[in-house]
Amino acid sequence: RMDKEFVIFIFGGTGDLAKRKLFPVLESMYKGGKLRGLKGVYALGRSVGKLRDYVSNLDRDFAGFFHPFEFDVTDKDSYERLGREVSRFPKEELIFYLALPPQLFETTIVHTGSLLRRFSNPRKIVIEKPFGFDLESARKLNFQLRRYFTEREIYRIDHFLGKVAIQNILSVRFSNYIFEGIWNKNFIDCIQISALEEIGLEGRAGYYDRVGALRDMVQNHLLQILSFLAMEPPAIMEAERVRDEKVKVLSSIRKFSRDEIDRYAVRGRYRGYIQELGRDSNTETYAAVKLFIDNFRWEGVPFYLRTGKRLKKKVTQVVVLFKEVPGNFGRLLGCVPRQNKLVFDIAPSNDVKLFFEMAPPEGFLACPVEREMELDLSPDGLPEAYETLIEDILEGNQTLFIREDESELAWEIIQPILDAWKEDTNVPEYEPGSWGPEEAEVFIGKDGRGWVLV
Ligand code: NAP
Repeated sequence: RMDKEFVIFIFGGTGDLAKRKLFPVLESMYKGGKLRGLKGVYALGRSVGKLRDYVSNLDRDFAGFFHPFEFDVTDKDSYERLGREVSRFPKEELIFYLALPPQLFETTIVHTGSLLRRFSNPRKIVIEKPFGFDLESARKLNFQLRRYFTEREIYRIDHFLGKVAIQNILSVRFSNYIFEGIWNKNFIDCIQISALEEIGLEGRAGYYDRVGALRDMVQNHLLQILSFLAMEPPAIMEAERVRDEKVKVLSSIRKFSRDEIDRYAVRGRYRGYIQELGRDSNTETYAAVKLFIDNFRWEGVPFYLRTGKRLKKKVTQVVVLFKEVPGNFGRLLGCVPRQNKLVFDIAPSNDVKLFFEMAPPEGFLACPVEREMELDLSPDGLPEAYETLIEDILEGNQTLFIREDESELAWEIIQPILDAWKEDTNVPEYEPGSWGPEEAEVFIGKDGRGWVLV
C-alpha cells in the first residue's frame, strides 16, 4: 500500500509544525524505506526563501523530492500555478495538508477543492486542529469540506491519537478481562484526565488569547481521551465502527443548561497573564469540567477533565479510581483505605501503573499498605505521533482521525460553557507554579473528592 504513488502538498510549509514535525517525519520515513511511492513534497508558503538553509541540510536523496513553492492561499494566481504543478502528476494520489493558521482553512479548502474539479486523481485532505472556533464555525468548515471532498478523503487530525500511550488505553481495556470486567459504574468511582503544563504563552499570546484552555485542549484532546476510556469495543476492527462507538459516547454526555454551568465547569487565569498580554481579557488559561455519560455502563460516574498553563508540573495523566470494596479489610481494622487506581501516564513517561493495597510486613492485622505495579509501555521509546498519523493517511486508515459528526458533537458539549464564560468577566486567578485556582479544588471537593495525580 505504501508503494502507491503520491505527492504531498503542505500548506504552511514554512511554518513551525511543518519544520519541526512534518518534514523531519517524512524525511525519516523516506530514509527508512517507508515512502517508496513518494513523488514529491511541496512546501507551500509566502516566504519560502526561509527554507533555503533547511533544504541544504536535508538528506540528499530526499531533497530531490522536496520543492519549496511560493504560495499565497488567498491569491488566485497561486492556485493557477499550483494547477500547472498538479498536472505534472496525472494519476498520483494528491495529499493536501493544511498546516495553516485556522482562519485560512476555509478559503484554502474552497480554492483547492474547486481547483481539483479539473483533475481526476485520487485525493486526500488533512486538516490540523483547531477544527473550527466554535460549533457554528465547525459546522461551516464541515459544510465546505463536504462540498468538495468525501468523508473518506478527509483526515481531521488530533495528534494526541497518534500517541501510542493513548492508543494503549484501548489495548489495555479490550485485551484484558481483569480490567474490562470491572470497567463500569459498579466498580469505578470516577475517572480523572489531567493535561497540565508548566509553560505559559511562549510568544503565542495573540493566538492563545482568542482560544483559551477549553477550546485548546478540552474540546479536542481531552474529549478524545474520554472517548477511548468510555467507548464500547467495536464489533469489527474498522475505522467506521471504532468511530461509531466514540460518537455514541459523545452523544451520551449529559447536556447542561446555562444556569448549571458552575456545577459542571470552572476556570482560572494565572496571575500576570493580563500584563503579559498587554490588554484586558477574560480568556481562561485553566479549565476543569465534570461530565457524565448517561448510558448503561457509566450512569452516575463523573469524568473530571482539567488542563492549564503555568502550573506546577508538566504532566498528562489518566487516573481511574475504583470504589471501595465492601467489607474493606483496612476499614475493619480502623485504618483509612486508599482507592485502587489504574493510571495511564501519557507524559512525561508512558507508564501504566496499578495501585492496590497489600498486607504490611507486620502481617494482616496491621493497616494495609499501598503498593504500586509499574509497567513501562516502551523502554526503547515510542514512534513520533505524527509518523503514526502520516502512515495512516498514506494507507487510508481513518481510525485515528476525527469524523465530521465527532467534531461537531465535541463542540456541542463545550459550547454552552464557552457562551457562559464569554459573558462573565470574573475569571478567578491562580499563582503561576501552583496546581490551579482554589475554585477548582472547591469544585471537586463538593463531590467529596480531590484531584489525584501519581
Ligand atoms: P505557524 O508557524 O504560524 O505557521 C503558519 C504557516 O502558515 C506559515 O508557514 C505561513 O507561511 C503560512 N501562511 C500564513 N498565511 C499564509 C498565506 N496567506 N498564504 C500561504 N501561507 C500562509 O503555525 P504552526 O505552529 O505551524 O501551526 C499550523 C497549524 O498546525 C495550526 O492550525 C496549528 O494549530 C496546528 N498545530 C501546530 C502545532 C505545532 O506544534 N506547531 C501542533 C498541533 C497543531 P508564510 O508566512 O511563509 O506564508
